[in-house]
Amino acid sequence: MSETKNETTTRTSVRQIEFVKGLDSGAPGGPIEQRWDTHRFQMKLVNPSNRRRYTVIVVGSGLAGGAAAATLGEQGYNVKCFCYQDSPRRAHSIAAQGGINAAKNYRNDGDSIYRLFYDTVKGGDFRARESNVYRLAQVSVNIIDQCVAQGVPFAREYGGYLDNRSFGGAQVSRTFYARGQTGQQLLLGAYQALERQIAAGSVKMFPRTEMLDIVVVDGYARGIITRDMVTGKIERHVADAVVLATGGYGNVFYLSTNAKGCNTTAIWRAHRRGAFFGNPCFTQIHPTCIPVTGDHQSKLTLMSESLRNDGRIWVPKKVGETRDPRQIPENERYYYLEERYPSFGNLVPRDVASRNAKQVCDEGRGVGPSGLGVYLDFSDSIKRLGKAKIVERYGNLFDMYAQITGENPYETPMRIYPAIHYTMGGLWVDYNLMSTIPGLFVAGEANFSDHGANRLGASALMQGLADGYFVLPYTIANFLAGIKPGGVDTNHAAFVEAEAEVNGRVKKFLSINGKRTVDDFHRELGKMMWDECGMARNEAGLKKALQRIPEIREEFWQNVRVPGEGNDLNQELEKAGRVADFLELGELMCVDALQRSESCGGHFREESQTADGEALRDDENFSYVSTWEYTGTLSKPELHKEPLAFEYVKPSQRSYK
Ligand SMILES: Cc1cc2nc3c(=O)[nH]c(=O)nc-3n(C[C@H](O)[C@H](O)[C@H](O)COP(=O)(O)OP(=O)(O)OC[C@H]3O[C@@H](n4cnc5c(N)ncnc54)[C@H](O)[C@@H]3O)c2cc1C
Repeated sequence: MSETKNETTTRTSVRQIEFVKGLDSGAPGGPIEQRWDTHRFQMKLVNPSNRRRYTVIVVGSGLAGGAAAATLGEQGYNVKCFCYQDSPRRAHSIAAQGGINAAKNYRNDGDSIYRLFYDTVKGGDFRARESNVYRLAQVSVNIIDQCVAQGVPFAREYGGYLDNRSFGGAQVSRTFYARGQTGQQLLLGAYQALERQIAAGSVKMFPRTEMLDIVVVDGYARGIITRDMVTGKIERHVADAVVLATGGYGNVFYLSTNAKGCNTTAIWRAHRRGAFFGNPCFTQIHPTCIPVTGDHQSKLTLMSESLRNDGRIWVPKKVGETRDPRQIPENERYYYLEERYPSFGNLVPRDVASRNAKQVCDEGRGVGPSGLGVYLDFSDSIKRLGKAKIVERYGNLFDMYAQITGENPYETPMRIYPAIHYTMGGLWVDYNLMSTIPGLFVAGEANFSDHGANRLGASALMQGLADGYFVLPYTIANFLAGIKPGGVDTNHAAFVEAEAEVNGRVKKFLSINGKRTVDDFHRELGKMMWDECGMARNEAGLKKALQRIPEIREEFWQNVRVPGEGNDLNQELEKAGRVADFLELGELMCVDALQRSESCGGHFREESQTADGEALRDDENFSYVSTWEYTGTLSKPELHKEPLAFEYVKPSQRSYK
């Protein structure tokens, strides 16, 4: 039995639902500075004494989900929060190193809400919604206040003000940080707020519980089906609204900087139930990761972008150079970013830095055993600032690098290379962060987000917390105020049917008893995705992938080996479900990449380049969010386009020169 064939029954035709306004983003009009305020005033509220009558499920307790669950709990709603880790504190957000952007202008260096908005729209290569991005820049200032009030230990200057550093794609310093552990500290803040609500009884936490499907009743999202990862028990949970804050799907590439557990199951299952998927092929490649060392690896490690504040990127001028980098004199080094982009230098946006690294390596100037690496050199900064300053700023990152590579980065330059890091694509949401399934909201990296075709560094934490603390609490209230609480219980046929499907899938995985491991399939898929749908793509390669992925999927369902039992802790079973979903999502990503025959952001379409090899965007034909509907047949999704209008930041060929 192939999953491709048996799933036509699970599709909900969202078109029949009067509630959905097609692909209208629902963003209000008027001057951009006033849109969010006007909208907030116009949205309905729920009386405080009525709030406890409503139940909201929040899947995910990272920065987006944790912030949303804590805030909704504080407001008095009944919240059920789920995560697959043993504690909300272990959400992948904990890995974020470099910092979080906010337009506070503490440095008085020319920053403003408008500049953050401008930089984000431009940095995303004009493929994001202006209204959302402006709102994000506006609430960024509240985030910092909220986190400071929670006790997040941001770095401070001598005088006591919060310190800032620079990230790519900006000429101001607006990135707040807590050494190289910003995500961890922010998550601890959100976690404390969440724990407070758990203790107060307004939030019930379900750790080690994986959502395996959503339940749609009469067109509305009314619950989820979960599996207890310790006992294997499958359960039904009902609510008045469901939030997915389940993170990104970069692990479709097998090797990425994401935690190994990151997956697409929650949003992919929702997609199959009727939630449209936005810009699935928009993946971020991060320029500063530790290069791949061989087939044995199961994950890659990020070296924070903040290192580009003080590290200089170069390769040897000579093709095939073999000398120790310290022996290569200054005039034989090619500081390619500084030379090609003098205004932004080493702080060009991630897509530009990544593409240039690939280009110099393709020319034969790459360093390290694979030739897929460039140097990130701190010797000048150490001379100028002293080693102690570098230790203070980046000590934990240098330690991590030394432990992984066995090299001392204070003495010899780090070697770095681009890797998969973040997904701008995700479930399509309107201005209220609601998907095409009424009552299903999506936050953080899981939605198609505000970053267009390329996210600027330090903007994901900002977006996750903006969604969780400052957007969802208003927009969910507005939704709930329009419906009666309750009315459906877990005996409803839709719950029974969804649970039966989840059970059937678990049984199927355990019964195949084939010869290849789940990881083996995942590795094959990941390599195909990186080769054909990664930093550079072309029509022939994408067509090749589109032929091969369904074949891998077919084989998976006949030849995967999942040992162990269903009613027990079984990590192979968990992985099997996630990889089965990656095998479907990967195909949609290639379909999306094939139709977008322009280069934009980090997505270099080889057929679309300028005479000097820069990415060539095609605004006339591709100024839209590509939004995909599951039609019941995997290889035949239907494209809907949300046109993008730029009233404030007029699209131009991006230049960082
Ligand atoms: C190494 C690294 C460094 C980074 N550094 C930065 C940085 O400096 N600045 C920045 O802005 N961004 C950074 N990012 C990006 C940023 O960390 C993430 O985009 C962001 O933290 C995602 O937050 P989230 O809340 O959306 O998802 P996550 O933190 O991934 O949380 C997802 C939650 O969903 C739960 N979940 C998922 N699926 C299910 C399911 N099926 N059932 C139940 N629960 C589920 C998980 O258990 C978890 O609780 C970095 C990313 C990486 C990989």
